[in-house]
Amino acid sequence: MPTHEALHALLVRLDGRSYPAYKELRGSWRMPGFRLSVDHVQGDPFAAPSRVSAHLPPQTAGLEPWLLESEARRLGVAVWLARAFSEGAEGRHTTGSGRSGAVGMASPGQLVLAQTAVRVRPDGSVEARFTVGLPARGRRIMGREAADLLTGAVPALVRAHLAEGAHDPADLRRAAAVNEDAEALRSRLGEHGLVAFVADGSVLPRRSGVDDRPLATGAVPFRSPASLRVTLPTPNGGGVAGMGVPAGVTLVVGGGFHGKSTLLRALEAGVWNHRPGDGRERVVTVADAVKVRAEDGRAVTGVDISPFIGDLPSGDHTRSFTTRNASGSTSQAAALVEALEAGAGVLLMDEDTCATNFLIRDRRMQALVPAGKEPITPLVDRVRELHREAGVSTVLILGGSGDYLDAADTVIGMDAFRPHDLTARAREVAAEHPAGRTPPEGLPPLGPRAPRRLADRAIPGGRGGSGEGSRGPRGLRVRVLDERTLRVGEERLDLAAVEQILLPTQLQTLAALLEALDRRRDWVAETVPGVARSLADRLAADLDHADPRARGDLALVRRFEIAAALNRLRTLELQG
Ligand code: ADP
Ligand code: MG
Repeated sequence: MPTHEALHALLVRLDGRSYPAYKELRGSWRMPGFRLSVDHVQGDPFAAPSRVSAHLPPQTAGLEPWLLESEARRLGVAVWLARAFSEGAEGRHTTGSGRSGAVGMASPGQLVLAQTAVRVRPDGSVEARFTVGLPARGRRIMGREAADLLTGAVPALVRAHLAEGAHDPADLRRAAAVNEDAEALRSRLGEHGLVAFVADGSVLPRRSGVDDRPLATGAVPFRSPASLRVTLPTPNGGGVAGMGVPAGVTLVVGGGFHGKSTLLRALEAGVWNHRPGDGRERVVTVADAVKVRAEDGRAVTGVDISPFIGDLPSGDHTRSFTTRNASGSTSQAAALVEALEAGAGVLLMDEDTCATNFLIRDRRMQALVPAGKEPITPLVDRVRELHREAGVSTVLILGGSGDYLDAADTVIGMDAFRPHDLTARAREVAAEHPAGRTPPEGLPPLGPRAPRRLADRAIPGGRGGSGEGSRGPRGLRVRVLDERTLRVGEERLDLAAVEQILLPTQLQTLAALLEALDRRRDWVAETVPGVARSLADRLAADLDHADPRARGDLALVRRFEIAAALNRLRTLELQG
């Protein structure tokens, strides 16, 4: 393997040549203490930057054996290293065109989840994938700057953030321990009959709607009501006390601005783990909890929403409901049925993003609009059955309607950011003030719906697909347009309402998965949840299954996020 001196000499020799000569960098270079692999060389200084990776053997990574003993510990460490490197690389530039001199690594944000930026192997070796902007003036190679970058700045970043001695050993131990504890807490939920757990002392509010870090000042730490408090064991942190959210139907009530939505958002994010110091590192939700909300305007393809919505005045049948422009209630019914289809065990809903007529229909409205004229069976009439018949729990934030008090197993009241157990009081109120609603009759059962199988043309640009122009020479192109949107061939795929996608890297992964579907075609005649599940399984085994090109910008998504993306494709086509 050529050495860093050879790399330096090559770069000096390339000085002044035209940009494509950088292709000579491809391959592996022996650097002091690590191997640098140049995996992809950009075509010009304005293109997406070049992809490189640093491979540190166990001796130079210097991670103590305890950190390597479990997958959860290794992941905690890997993400700690990734955050340090990505922050350390920020803002580096040299003179030159485009992104000359910039070094970038995908940031894990506040989350701790499998990602490809930094990986720690069981033997203690470390692989870090990042990008470099190879320097140029116009289209002329700036060889000396490139030499400074690759044989100076990059090894310095590796030493400062990845190699032995880069971190206080106590920080690494904490990153490993906190992540292992979060995994342990989640694994205990089932045996305690819980769907979520919020440790006492957790800090749930965020700095702002666009800043996921904890609120810096004035945050009221979480404190469980005594009646809901459980203590769960952890391998590193001993017994952790906090509020258990029981399986069944849980209602969170309270006045406006008392922290209800903030609690629900923490539960949504609790399917992922969080970094030490996030405030939510000991907030965990079962892994199959899915946020469900209204999303008017979305496309729906062949979803049986008849348990909630009978045939529509338009004459549309709801046993196989298709629209390119769903209403609030039909979009929420579709999202709920799709979540069940994908295997959700818990549904999370917030009044702020629900369609009112999907949630409730009170006595007076029942009297005014006769049952035969209203296609919607509100969730309040089915939420108990969801748990009893289908084993699916619901956590619902609802400050504005008391009709759910009859349906709830647990009622949590938020008052000035403090939760209270209002279950007993809610029973009294329900008895004193009967809702007086007429229970609906003859509803279709909530059981499994007819399978939705993908047609050959399901993925746009696929063989015989609709958008011919959407296929490049290598097949369907899927790109991340912005934080919430993909472009799939010619179509925009809006994922803003899939709220448990929290990182740009998760969006990149979904884009890669969709693009690969066009090449693989083994999904034809498979069901939507079946495809989502097999992709998620492959991804969980190795993220590089999404894209074999050694990318550093991929992160884990669940089958629910994959199914959500498939279900929102405007070009989705089903068999039959
Ligand atoms: P609700 O859904 O009950 O109307 P939100 O959850 O939207 O209330 O919270 C209202 C505001 O209070 C938000 O700005 C949020 O960041 C802040 N907040 C929420 N929880 C806390 C807390 N524990 N301590 C301090 N501020 C909080
Ligand atoms: Mg709210």
